Amino acid sequence: MWNLKRPSLTSIRSDLDALFPEGTGAGISDDDKLKVLELYDEYKEAMGEPNPVWKTKLLSNESRDLLLTAYGEVSDKGELSLLRAALKKGAKKCPYCGFGEIRDLDHHLPKKHYKCFSVFALNLVPSCSKCNGHKPRTPPSAREKYHIHAYLDDVSDFNFLVADIEISDGALSVIFSIEKRKGMSNELTNRLRQHLTDFKLNERYIAQITNYLESQETGLDDNFRLGGASEVRAYLLRTADSIARTNGANDWRGALVVALAESDEFCDGGFYEVLGFT
Ligand SMILES: [Zn+2]
Repeated sequence: MWNLKRPSLTSIRSDLDALFPEGTGAGISDDDKLKVLELYDEYKEAMGEPNPVWKTKLLSNESRDLLLTAYGEVSDKGELSLLRAALKKGAKKCPYCGFGEIRDLDHHLPKKHYKCFSVFALNLVPSCSKCNGHKPRTPPSAREKYHIHAYLDDVSDFNFLVADIEISDGALSVIFSIEKRKGMSNELTNRLRQHLTDFKLNERYIAQITNYLESQETGLDDNFRLGGASEVRAYLLRTADSIARTNGANDWRGALVVALAESDEFCDGGFYEVLGFT
């Protein structure tokens, strides 16, 4: 969740050539392709933060529209199907929610506003359809609302995702939030919080939490029989370590399991009621 390995950029020129073959007189000229590559370099230098000058710089409106239309070729049967497949392969789960199946490529900078990056690999983030659909279509004007760039903003040094749980009448409620840690700026904290809001993660995690806890049923039961609350807690902490090793520090399951381990009520048999065993 949050970060993905950067995609290879070795084919960005050949991708443009495949979309707009040389010598045909149609599409984007060789000169324009160099300008597109120059804009790609600026994107990399700016770490993908939106810069409104890119909407008009270097390229004509006609060339921009051609690039936007060319995104249709980044499809399963299009000219750039291999690019699509390679990008989708770079993520096991959606980096925005941490559970959705990869179906779409999200334009980090929306393609209708930043047409010049419509087929740029670094601007194409594999995501689930729900997250892609929830993403605001207009880039925010305030920096602290910018989304984290899954390839370029490495946030793995901080353990910022926390879960607050409450058990009431046997029902578990969980709220995820972003905790500002030492070394994190206010801006970064707010940008991370924007993800929770825009992707409606707290609402969408409810069903996932139920499924996840059901998958832990045997482990919880076995450990409780073995040694009561302390064995359940130890089991949950081992599980949290394993999740962090596999999925990084800020996986929603990891945050959930840490919070459950801290709950005396849950560990001391309260999980039976939460799981509907009463
Ligand atoms: Zn998602």
